Amino acid sequence: MPVEALGDYDPNNIFARILRGEIPSKRVYEDDWAIAFHDINPQAPVHVLVIPRGPYRSWADFSANASEAEIAGFVRAVGATARLLGLEEPGYRLLANAGVHAHQEVPHLHVHIFGGRQMGAMLPR
Ligand code: 5GP
Repeated sequence: MPVEALGDYDPNNIFARILRGEIPSKRVYEDDWAIAFHDINPQAPVHVLVIPRGPYRSWADFSANASEAEIAGFVRAVGATARLLGLEEPGYRLLANAGVHAHQEVPHLHVHIFGGRQMGAMLPR
């Protein structure tokens, strides 16, 4: 049973438009399942967003409704992007915001990759 109907997905959200090439982005990685591009308002020396190509709003939507191949492809793309960015050795942080409490701004699933400096505490107090 789908957690959220696909009809709830807004096909005109910013990341859908980036996927379709209607809005430019600085892509660092892409494959059949995902694309990765620099965040327009970076919060760290390296700040890249990885998004699945499919129309999923959130982690809950994606994990409940995406195929095994889409899920595997997306997870692998996050790892491949971090490696490509040279972050494996110095380390990096992954973040996925979901919903109002996490201040999710764009309703297309995305994982933030932060790197290039000490990340400090996990969450502000
Ligand atoms: P959220 O708060 O939803 O987890 O993060 C959304 C992220 O998307 C923010 O870090 C924001 O800077 C980034 N963003 C919003 N609009 C654009 C855009 O048009 N292009 C790019 N590259 N990033 C964007």
